[in-house]
Formats: sequence, C-alpha cells, structure tokens
Amino acid sequence: MPCWSLADKKPASANTLAARLARLGLRTDADYVLHLPLRYEDETRITAVRDAQPGVAAQFDVEVIDNEIAYRPRRQLVVRVSDASGTLTMRFLNFYPNQQKAMQVGARLRFFGELHEGYLGPEIIHPRFHVVGAGESLPECLTPVYPTTAGLGQATLRRLIARALDRADLTDTLPAALLERLGLPDFTAAIQRLHNPPPEMTQASLEARDYPAWRRVQFDELLAQQLSLRRAYTARRARGAPSLQATATLTTALLAALPFRLTGAQQRAWQEIASDLDQPHPMQRLLQGDVGSGKTVVAALAMLHAVEAGYQAALMAPTEILAEQHYRKLAAWLAPLGLEVAWLTGSLKKRGKEAVLAGIASGNTPIVIGTHALIEDKVEFARLGLAIVDEQHRFGVRQRLALKEKGLFAHQLAMSATPIPRTLAMSYYADLDVSVLDELPPGRTPVTTKLIAEGRRDQVVARVREACRAGGQAYWVCPLIEESETLQLKTAEETFARLTSDLPGQRVGLVHGRLKAAEKAAVMAAFVNNEIHVLVATTVIEVGVDVPNASLMVIEHAERFGLAQLHQLRGRVGRGAAQSACILLYAQPLGQLARARLKVIFESTDGFEIAREDLRLRGPGEFIGARQSGLPLLRYADLEDAALVEQARAVAEDMLRDAPEQAAAHLQRWLGGREELLKA
Ligand code: ADP
Ligand code: MG
Repeated sequence: MPCWSLADKKPASANTLAARLARLGLRTDADYVLHLPLRYEDETRITAVRDAQPGVAAQFDVEVIDNEIAYRPRRQLVVRVSDASGTLTMRFLNFYPNQQKAMQVGARLRFFGELHEGYLGPEIIHPRFHVVGAGESLPECLTPVYPTTAGLGQATLRRLIARALDRADLTDTLPAALLERLGLPDFTAAIQRLHNPPPEMTQASLEARDYPAWRRVQFDELLAQQLSLRRAYTARRARGAPSLQATATLTTALLAALPFRLTGAQQRAWQEIASDLDQPHPMQRLLQGDVGSGKTVVAALAMLHAVEAGYQAALMAPTEILAEQHYRKLAAWLAPLGLEVAWLTGSLKKRGKEAVLAGIASGNTPIVIGTHALIEDKVEFARLGLAIVDEQHRFGVRQRLALKEKGLFAHQLAMSATPIPRTLAMSYYADLDVSVLDELPPGRTPVTTKLIAEGRRDQVVARVREACRAGGQAYWVCPLIEESETLQLKTAEETFARLTSDLPGQRVGLVHGRLKAAEKAAVMAAFVNNEIHVLVATTVIEVGVDVPNASLMVIEHAERFGLAQLHQLRGRVGRGAAQSACILLYAQPLGQLARARLKVIFESTDGFEIAREDLRLRGPGEFIGARQSGLPLLRYADLEDAALVEQARAVAEDMLRDAPEQAAAHLQRWLGGREELLKA
C-alpha cells in the first residue's frame, strides 16, 4: 500500500471519468502501472508560515482568519490564514461555493503551494488544500504528481494507480542475470519506487534521469520499441509479396532514352531495389538522397521493373504541385515506351476520377501518380506490385499506415531528402532497409548562400532584375506566417504586387496553397516554360519542384523557417549549369534559435550535416513529425541516449530468438494495442 493519502475528495461520474482516462491512454492495469509521475511533492513536512520561502513549494497547517470575495479587477476569493508564526494570503481566481464554505473563518486547513511576493505582501495563488481531520497524520514519503488532463484530479489518478498496482501482473519480463549485467533493478522494485517512493528518498535524487528505477523504465520502453520493430520486420519477411521477375526491356529503353547517365550512386540504389523486388517478400526500403540527387529516375526504373513483371506501380507525393510535376516528368519519360501514366488527386472532376479508378481496378493502368487520394478506400488496385512514397516524412503517421495497408502485399519504397540521424535510424526506422544517393549528378555548380538584412531589399530586387535580364529565372519565397494562413496569403499578394511594379518588363507569377489545383498547375507550367520569370510563392514550392533554369532563390523572413525547410527551398536552385544563389533576407533582431539556424544553413550545404543540426536544435519528436499527429513518442527514454538504444536493440534480438514468450509479454505490457501506430 502507498504511504501517501488515498482520500479522494471529488468523485467524478463514471462516464466522464472513463473519457478522461482514455484521453491519457489509460485502459489496462498495465497502462496505469506505467503511468509514472512527472515529479514529486514533499508533503511529509509542515512549514511554519514565517519560514516560507518565495518560489519553494511547501505545506502549511493554518487557521482561516478572514475570507472575502474581492473584485480587483476580477472576482476572486481572498483568504487570510495564520499559524502561530505569522499570516499569509491565499488567492483563488476560480472557486466553487463549497470551497468557499470549507474555508470559513476558524476552519483548520492544510494547504500546499508556492509563495509569491504579491502586491499586498506574500501570497499563494491557488494552493491545494483540504480541511485537516482530527488526528490526521502526515504522509511518510514524497507524493507523486502524475500527468493528467482537465477535470481529472491527482487523488483520483493515485487511487486508480494504486488499485492497478495491487492487482496487475508485475512479473519481470527480463531474467535476473541480464539485469545484473546491465546494472538495472528488477521491474517490480523500480515501478514501486517510482509510484511509492521510499521515505528516505529526496526529491532531487528521485527526479534525476539516471535514478536506477528510471533507467529501468527507459530501458524497458526502448526495448518495447525495438521488439516491435524487429517483429514487424520479421513478420514482413514472412509475408508473401510477388517476386517481380523483370525482363529489363522497359528499363533498358528508358536508360537509353535519358539525356544523362546514372550516377554511380543511382546505379547502386537501383540495383539494391531491383534485387529486393525479385524477392518473394515485401521490400521496405528507404531511398535517401539530398535534394537534387536524382531520386525520381530511380523511382521510375523501379516502377518499370514492376510493370515488366506484369504488375502495377503507384507513386504518392505529399502535394498536388509535386504530384503533378512527377506526373509530367514520368509521362514524358514513359509515353515514348508506350506506357500510359494515370494521375489521381482529390481535385480531379468526378468523371475523370471514375475513369482513373476503373483503370486502376481493371489493371489496365500500369502506373499511377497522385496525392494521398491514392490511399482512399475507393482505390482498388488489380495487381499492385510496388508502392512508392515521395518525401515520406511529409505524410502523417496515419496516412503512412493507410498506404501500408493498401500495399500490404506489395513492395514499398519511400523516398526522402531528409536524412535520418543515426539514433533515429536505429529506433523509429529500424525496420527499413536504406539506399543512399551520396553523389550529386555531375555539372552542378554549388549554390552560394547569402544572408542579407531586410533593410537592403532594394539591392536584392536589383539582383533579381539582373538575373532575369540575363535569361535566368528566380523564386521569391514569401514569409511563413504560422499563425494565420489568411495573413500569409495577404503577404504573398502584396509581395506579388510590389515585385510586379519593381520589375517592369519581367513577368511575375504567384502561386500559393489557396489556388485551385488547375490554377496552380497553370502557373507552374508557365514557370517551367519560362513564360514567368519571377515566381512569387508561399512554401508550396518547398518540396521537389524542379525548374533547372531558375538560378536565384530569395527567401523573405528566412529567420521564420525551419532548417529542413530552408535546405529544401535552397535545393530548388542549382539544378542547371548556371551559377546559382540563395539569398536569405532576414529581419532584425534575430532570436537565438533563428540565429543558430541561419548560421547552419549559411555554413553548410550538406543535407546530412543540416539534419543532424536540426535534430540537435529541435529534438527528435518534431523531427519524425509524430508530434503533430498526437501520437505517443517515447515517454521516458531519450533517443539521444544512444548507448541505451544500442543495448535495447541487442537485447531485443536475443529475446525474440531465445525467449519469445517474455518478448510478447513485454510488448503487451508496454504497447498493448497501440503497436500498429508505432510502426507506421
Ligand atoms: P530529387 O532527388 O531531389 O528528387 P530529382 O529526381 O528531381 O531530384 O532530380 C533533379 C534533377 O536532376 C532532375 O532534373 C533530373 O532529371 C536530373 N538528374 C537526375 N539524375 C541525373 C543524372 N544522373 N545526371 C544528370 N542529371 C540528372
Ligand atoms: Mg524529388
């Protein structure tokens, strides 16, 4: 039994309680057992009012001496309390009538809170309090404070967790010898200590990340992740996929028709993919290559391989602009080979869409390019052999999962320009095979990057004018305004108007996310054909757009962009033979993080290096894009802890081979039914 108080003051109705618990992911006993405290509070001692320190949470036993509702300016309850040593003010901005009643003059209260120096002397805002019962004793150990959600009190959580601890199966999933080797405590001891700290524990040692009980929990969490990934990997290998026997007729024809030769890196990646496609189990490969390294042609070869073997291939891109661009490029490459390429996006008219869907369902359409419209329920492939996702990190976890289901028995290729740092590769992406394009096609001139303060905008406009007069083209990227899409659009329109008047004689175009797909496509086509010289754009052009004649990129308010975004944007230029430049216009004063980002992008053009810095500046959660999807990432462990990740990986492998039942129990405890989401 826990040594802190189990008294529950406010029973909640079962229905809303269940909903709140579900929001915290609390369903099974194991979920409660693993719902560990965020921090601890010391309620083992009473502090005399006179000894209260500003900024330090403490507990007081007092009597109410005054109690009034004040309006200054907001309605609030102000309660004066005292003990033998002095008096204090407690202030409640929200309160219930019954709380006010409990704090009537003369009531004996125990309250817990942090002292502030207020306008009228020392005060405590919103302390936690209860009426002291006769003979009520103090808890003997620190009180855990759990992560919670609105309307769910700590007392309720504590009671539920205590109950779960009493009846849950806490059997260790790891053998004692292994724990000894790793220097970790056994599971029951670790968990009990974290929920019910022994009386002698101090707050500082208990909250330290390397407290052995926390190490055990972190290890277990990483182990669960590794087990899940390895199991997915094995399951995939056990699942059948068509062995795609290529004839090389189409791929040879494409290679012969291309105006360039594959780089060594492209050659290697293509061979790795081709040999995967021959296998009777699904490929799951990531093709990783910096912007401009030429991933598209490798994707085209892979698709042709599938088609030669009598199967269909699909390519999914994260935006309409990008999907359209792939479509144009692939159609141009493949039409001469007598292959029809279909195109499927959400903005297709009903009739057109039905025709495309029919072609996909009958198998008459060998190759289809599209957006996430491809993973809608209505889309049924006759014989999908290969599914490719471009810029896969831009898709949400749920979309990736949907694609996985659609292509369950198909080979899968993901492409990304954002290299995965090592610790992430070992964890979230551990069940992927990776091919790397570590070489850019020849004849590229490196892009020069310039940082220019907003005040010198005129010089930048002059530079754009010059570049266009010399026959070049330029992108002008408008500031990102995260808070308001409307405002962002307004800014883009203003920039467009301003540049149109600043650059007489040049055709200026505007493309942004609110345009209809057909309008967007028309603007992009005009830019590709050099009928538009300066393209004013919001970040819709961030990924993949390929216009080799554009050699100048201006990014306004570059300080607002993330590193990966800046790198992607800059990658839009330097695609042709002309010397290219990227001008980062920034507004002062620069914040610390913005300064750090601009320094990285100025000093490096290496995508790997930039990704590493990005991970360092932002943390892994944002990096894998899971944060916005609301999925639980690692709760206790830290991916930066590479040594622990390595250990977990090694143990996972042994465990699956030697102790599959324990492995299953461990997974059940940690992931319950959520395993699918982690694998996406
Ligand atoms: P990314 O990897 O960023 O998707 P793309 O596939 O769009 O790059 O390729 C960038 C440009 O380089 C395209 O214009 C493409 O046709 C061209 N390209 C690809 N491979 C080669 C090569 N081996 N030699 C010359 N140009 C190439
Ligand atoms: Mg690309």
